[in-house]
Amino acid sequence: MSETKGVRVRGILLGLGISLGLLGVTAAVSAPGIVENSMNKIDYFDYAGASEEALALHSELTIVDMHADTLLWDRDLTKQSYRGHVDLPRLQQANVAIQVFSSVSKTPKGQNYDSNSADSDNITLLSIVQGQPIRTWNSPLQRSLFHAKKLEAAAKDSNGKLQLIHDRGELADFLLEREGNQDLVGALFSVEGLHNLEGDFKNIQKLFDAGMRMAGFTHFFDNELAGSMHGEKKGGLTEFGEKTFDELQRLGVIIDIAHASPAAVDDMLKRATRPVVSSHGGVQGTCMENRNLSDDQIRGVAATNGVIGIGFWDAAVCDTSPKAVVDAIDHVVEIGGIETAALGSDFDGAVTVGWDVTGMDLITHELLERGYTPEEIRLIMGGNTIRVFNDVLPESFADHEH
Ligand SMILES: [Zn+2]
Repeated sequence: MSETKGVRVRGILLGLGISLGLLGVTAAVSAPGIVENSMNKIDYFDYAGASEEALALHSELTIVDMHADTLLWDRDLTKQSYRGHVDLPRLQQANVAIQVFSSVSKTPKGQNYDSNSADSDNITLLSIVQGQPIRTWNSPLQRSLFHAKKLEAAAKDSNGKLQLIHDRGELADFLLEREGNQDLVGALFSVEGLHNLEGDFKNIQKLFDAGMRMAGFTHFFDNELAGSMHGEKKGGLTEFGEKTFDELQRLGVIIDIAHASPAAVDDMLKRATRPVVSSHGGVQGTCMENRNLSDDQIRGVAATNGVIGIGFWDAAVCDTSPKAVVDAIDHVVEIGGIETAALGSDFDGAVTVGWDVTGMDLITHELLERGYTPEEIRLIMGGNTIRVFNDVLPESFADHEH
């Protein structure tokens, strides 16, 4: 009896052990998915869907989105995923011509829009949980180089469908080739915060060689180059920031004012001799958040011949509807002119949006509803951003020594 009982207890313990073991394995396998699912959300609304007229126009647009953080997450860009907002199959479905993929390389604990210190780093734990190489666990530079390689690898695995763009020559070739094949998607690599230079000027060239063609100076905290709009001091450009600014312009890297403090934005707009962009965000004219652009800043970007990418998430446009996004676009057009308006979704940026990339036609639909002409819609949905790429990107990558 006791023997039988002993066997039974051992059996139960063994069963429990196996269950716990399986639970552990399941947790390890699905943890990145759980983390991403909890951060990249979609508010599902029952939109009527785009009209036939809008769909027809949408299908012949050249669409450019200036900001997605997809590289931060542990998934294969070339495969359609059940999580997040962007991957190659969904970009193809959405008729997106060029997606800018940004590298998030450090975020503070308790991240908020008002004030963050640079002392903590959420990405360490994420890097470990996602099984990234050890060199990425503590180094923002290594994380960005890892993200760049990940994008390159996805392009290699895509049978030529995903093409990295480094210069004007590649941009022209890509756009020409895409005229005959809308399955092609171009990719541009950007960084969200130049704290990834780790204070070393020489790392600019490393990131440029890795493909960086757009650079935001700050993310959620002040760094060696500039103040963040969410930092503690929110200062202007430092001497190192000024030196870096000039070098990026010389190399043909597009300067991004997103997340920079008002003082830093002023300094950058004064210093700019090339068009600058705000890759993703909203405007205070329609959504009074401290992370959004004032009318003066809109005029400042317009004066450089740059563009403002309107985001699709709640804190950028105070809602997650296509109407809210187009309200912000209307405001940019009113203050900065039609050639200043552009898209910067912030898909996969730990944000809640109203649709994943396949819902992009809702914007085209709403723009038509507001009375924009097809020609104006062409500019807003991508034409303006391609103009900036052509103005700023280097003539030819091969011309640069590295
Ligand atoms: Zn951002």
